[in-house]
Amino acid sequence: MTQDLQERTRSLNEQMRRLAALSQTSQGLGKDSEPGAMAEAILGVSLKALGLDTALLLARNEANGLEVRAAVGASGKAAGQLTRVSPVKLAEGFADEATAGVEIAETLASDARRALRLFAELAGVERALVVPLIRGERNAGYLVTGLAPGYALPQQDVELLQTIATEMALMIENADLRKKAELQSHRLDQAIIALEKISQALTAVTVGTDNLLRAVAHATSEILDVPYASLHLRKAAWRQQFSDVIVGATTRRELAAVRQGGDVATPRVVRPEQLVEIDLVDERGEPLPLARRIGLQRTVAVPMCLAGEIVGVLAVHMKEPRPLERSEIRVLQTLANQAVIAIENAAAYERTKELATTDAMTGVANHRELETYLDRELQRARKTKEPLAIIMCDVDHFKAINDSVGHPAGDKVLRHLTRQILLPAMRPKDLVARYGGDEFVLVLRGADSRAAVAVAERIRRTVAGQAVMLDGKAVSNLSLSLGIAVFPRDGDSREALVQAADQALYVAKRTGRNRVVRSDEASAETHLAS
Ligand code: GH3
Ligand code: MG
Repeated sequence: MTQDLQERTRSLNEQMRRLAALSQTSQGLGKDSEPGAMAEAILGVSLKALGLDTALLLARNEANGLEVRAAVGASGKAAGQLTRVSPVKLAEGFADEATAGVEIAETLASDARRALRLFAELAGVERALVVPLIRGERNAGYLVTGLAPGYALPQQDVELLQTIATEMALMIENADLRKKAELQSHRLDQAIIALEKISQALTAVTVGTDNLLRAVAHATSEILDVPYASLHLRKAAWRQQFSDVIVGATTRRELAAVRQGGDVATPRVVRPEQLVEIDLVDERGEPLPLARRIGLQRTVAVPMCLAGEIVGVLAVHMKEPRPLERSEIRVLQTLANQAVIAIENAAAYERTKELATTDAMTGVANHRELETYLDRELQRARKTKEPLAIIMCDVDHFKAINDSVGHPAGDKVLRHLTRQILLPAMRPKDLVARYGGDEFVLVLRGADSRAAVAVAERIRRTVAGQAVMLDGKAVSNLSLSLGIAVFPRDGDSREALVQAADQALYVAKRTGRNRVVRSDEASAETHLAS
């Protein structure tokens, strides 16, 4: 009877102990303190209830390595030593299937698993119980508890440790999920900030379209935390105005690899809403050579759509082949859509600007643009003390040409003159402008009188020396008169300079046409004439 009572008391105590251990473990599930410290504290208390005082909690990470989540009974320094070993090395020798069972490792010092050898050394134990952490169908890690020599752990305690291990696995998963959620919400915040920035750029397109495209690509790479992003334009009108951009790549190797990623992925984007994820490998699964050189593994691309039509592709290029999360894909698609609006606006802006600054018939700068350009360049010339020359030229007897070939053919002559003769005679930094009618002004930055005369003479000779073919008919009597004025000698304001060149042109006309006259010669002549 007494024995029966003793037996029942023992069993009750046993149950209390187990309940206490379990409640300690489950309490931790609801808390949101730092996951590592929490796991350690809970594990410590749970183990104490079972008369155990050393343990190592290893959790499986996404790369299938084992990370140290808690080390009970080892000093902080010793635990630090353990966490410095890479998760891949710590996982060596451990089964990673859910089928792995509970096991007693009897001789830790000579165990094939490095994690167990280190644990033995740091916690000062010789043997350990190794309990797998199971989450659903997968192995989520291991709970290792040190055992005193010769101690046979009761079966109930082993089962209890298995329960604790399962709860720990759940807790780790929860903590990881929470961390992920926090990261995601941080990313979404970032995304919103970036989208705001892009929207601001929409209203201030004057920053230049190239910058705008780069801003979109930059925001994409930053928000998704990927090293490279690229924007590929498909709409023909866009392609004429802008070019594709790549951000993140600075070396030629990087540029080549990222371009290759874009080349492989973008043609596969054929449907709105589509998500194209490409591993940068060939048919045999070997990494593509350019990608391999910089460790690029994957390109993810989404379409940029305008009224159901795919007008471009936004792509990110990653060095690790992680699948994008749903929220990240949404961000990518939102950015792609924002980019469409931004580019459309910028394109419209550029077109309007062009209409406002160019002469519709010839395509060169118009009178207004000439004034803006001259003002700006004169200001620069004043600062840098560099010379600047303008050449004013006018077609000789253009009325007669119009009369003989007709007005529309006359237009063709003017277009031929700008495209085939004036524009090719200029350096990229110079300007050709239509002043009005058959009169043009050329602005030559940094050119002195001699340089300007050389350019003007070359133009005069070219025009006078060749016949213009118009619908099979030759117009052979084409010639130009040109007047030159140089800043600051002939005038130090726009008006003065233009007037001086006009004066020189007038003298060129009066003295026989098909001539180049400098402003200083013209003033001398005007003085002589008066
Ligand atoms: P000059 O040698 O003195 O310059 O004789 P010109 O006949 O060229 O006379 P001027 O430069 O004074 O007149 C320019 C003429 O060019 C007047 C007009 O008939 C013609 N013209 C002006 N604008 C256009 C145009 O857009 N297209 C065509 N086809 N002709 C134009
Ligand atoms: Mg004329």
